[in-house]
Amino acid sequence: MRPDSSVVLFFVDGLGIGERCESNPLVGLDADPIAHFVGSDERSPEIRMVPTDPRLGVEGRPQSASGQTTILTGINAPKLLGYHKNGFPNQALREVIAKDSIFRRLIASGIEEVVFANAYTPAFFESPPRWKSATTVAMEAAGIAFRKLPDLVGRCALFHDFTNRTLRERGFDVPLFSPIDAGEILASLTSRYRFVLYEHFLTDKIGHDQDHASARQHLPELAEFVRETISRLDSERTTFVLTSDHGNIEDLSVRNHTLNDVPTLVWGRRCDETASRINDLADVAPAIFDLLTHD
Ligand SMILES: [Zn+2]
Repeated sequence: MRPDSSVVLFFVDGLGIGERCESNPLVGLDADPIAHFVGSDERSPEIRMVPTDPRLGVEGRPQSASGQTTILTGINAPKLLGYHKNGFPNQALREVIAKDSIFRRLIASGIEEVVFANAYTPAFFESPPRWKSATTVAMEAAGIAFRKLPDLVGRCALFHDFTNRTLRERGFDVPLFSPIDAGEILASLTSRYRFVLYEHFLTDKIGHDQDHASARQHLPELAEFVRETISRLDSERTTFVLTSDHGNIEDLSVRNHTLNDVPTLVWGRRCDETASRINDLADVAPAIFDLLTHD
């Protein structure tokens, strides 16, 4: 019998589809800006890249809290609020996430094998932050356990900075991971879980810092992690989806988020069908829900 289908959702903060110009660090190492991720030779996996609208019909620059809420719930959060909410979710968004996150909906449908692959540091548990990320709110509301640093050391979790460099700089005794280690760890979670979420935030920070040197070093590493993950997945069983909440790092000429579309990358099981139904960020969660609940 074929094992149950699974989905890996790989969230990258602040990755848009930019112009091919000097201020786009994705250009210059490869012919096509998104080629780092998608690959450009015949050995590359067949990844579909769907330009995806993060503006969602609301004026202003797309922001993290409302964008992430939309990705996690399929509800157009900027439209609900009337504006794009930056930083962390406010009370209105927390209520939406608590009630309608993909985690909550999957569990309600009998799919309990769900995991957030990111490890939290001890500080999160010792003095819980006043402001919580969209995913943290979703996990708490759905009653899902958080992964911790021992999980990371045991290769069952990853830090948002997947190499662990920043953790080691902060004095944590954790191993350095290569993009290959990270890919192996993330892909291995699909043997036990049907929905695996991973989140990466350095891209947005590098964009705000307008840090060309970091961008040129970091983006190929991130892309290697993505491609390594995909190379270890079973395309008959698993669908890989990468998306972002808004553009930023693709245009280092500005410190702000951009108005660009974001790339949704889709690979694996029911790839074409999934890609064809995604137009904006509100389409991501329903597509994933459908992949896991209907054959
Ligand atoms: Zn930002």
